[in-house]
Amino acid sequence: MRFYSTNNPQATVSAEEALFHSMPSDKGLYMPTPLPQLGAGFFERIAGQSLAEIGFAISEALFSNEISQADLEELTHRSFPFDTPVVNLEPGTTSVLELFHGPSLAFKDVGARYMAALMSYYSNRNDKEVNILVATSGDTGGAVAMGFHNVPGVRVSILYPSGRVSDLQEKQLTTLGGNVQAFEVDGSFDDCQAIVKQAFIDAELNTNLSLSSANSINIFRLIPQGFYYVRAYGQVRQYGKPVVFSTPSGNFGNLSAGVIVQQMGLPVSHFIAATNLNHVVPSYIKSGQYLPKESVATISNAMDVGSPSNFVRLAHLYGDDHDRFKAQMSGYFYNDEETRAGMKRIFDVYNYVACPHTAIGIMALEAYQKEKKQDVVGVSLATAHPAKFKPLVEEVLGRPVDVPERLAILADRPKQSIRIPAQYDAFKESLLQTVA
Ligand SMILES: *Cc1c(COP(=O)(O)O)cnc(C)c1O
Repeated sequence: MRFYSTNNPQATVSAEEALFHSMPSDKGLYMPTPLPQLGAGFFERIAGQSLAEIGFAISEALFSNEISQADLEELTHRSFPFDTPVVNLEPGTTSVLELFHGPSLAFKDVGARYMAALMSYYSNRNDKEVNILVATSGDTGGAVAMGFHNVPGVRVSILYPSGRVSDLQEKQLTTLGGNVQAFEVDGSFDDCQAIVKQAFIDAELNTNLSLSSANSINIFRLIPQGFYYVRAYGQVRQYGKPVVFSTPSGNFGNLSAGVIVQQMGLPVSHFIAATNLNHVVPSYIKSGQYLPKESVATISNAMDVGSPSNFVRLAHLYGDDHDRFKAQMSGYFYNDEETRAGMKRIFDVYNYVACPHTAIGIMALEAYQKEKKQDVVGVSLATAHPAKFKPLVEEVLGRPVDVPERLAILADRPKQSIRIPAQYDAFKESLLQTVA
């Protein structure tokens, strides 16, 4: 499998290059080519298989020229010690695909862990330690930190803005130890990001350390996200109806992953882009005009993105053709008041506790089914565990939310971070000390 830039489909690079460089030098986004086709027999075969088994089968179709079968099997099973079950709200009509059974309790575990396993594979093969730098405003950092924790051949430095992430998010970043080092920056998320950007162009640092990013635009975070769409299809195909996926979206990586696997042959009849008030994509679907904006803050804050980094990828997948885009995907969006009402109704009607992002996906699915009067089986992606948003969910539902053991134990672990001013030199000095 090779990778080309959306800005130049003629030139391709290897999987290893796309993995470690994240972004092509022409500032486009990497796309895989050629996409292998998973035939009807494939979908017969995978019914009832786990995420790890399906991930291995698709990885073989993608990477058998690069990586041996035994290594692929080992790395997919190491990536996915948890599953992504489909839970029926109304059998044959409305289901949720629960993506929050991994260590950080959100779907980002799937992409982060697979990418980490691949980086470890290549760094061991090249006998070279890789240093990952990430700036986080909260959620991604936890998935990356936990995904890379104890992965041989890789060190992770995470920069986060002091006092501006939730207690729980901070615990996810700062209590792991080992190969994961948290830098607590006296500044904003933008300051953290500026420091990381400067590190990547610092020639001295790059000759001493092999630097790489775990950026959310890395194509290797998206590829494994396709595995759970396939996993869900395997569970709902028994109803013999067209399958529709509804994906709560911010940067649109998750939805791009669904479209990529559809183009590999997954029989998806329609996609739904579900957002909060940051609705540039639903608006584009409606009007054909793409107008990125400043983001607005909402209660579904992991989707507060005004200029989605994967929009280019999504449009490219539809041949940059608005009519094609619109024929394959519908968009719906909700404000905070509607989201709260939706969370409450979903609990009252289905007895299901949904985080605000997940509720938006379910509401969008129901709106589509009502509007199009289509008899489809709808699968809505549950992107995070409700306990990640405990105070909000408890307030809206008026009842306590259980916290899974793996999250609860973090509360008692001591925080370990290196506190630095928002200055590049301070970071560089301290990074060189920690990796020395
Ligand atoms: C990151 C995130 C999203 C948005 O996913 P994208 O791939 O950026 O569209 C939705 N819900 C939750 C809980 C998230 O953490």
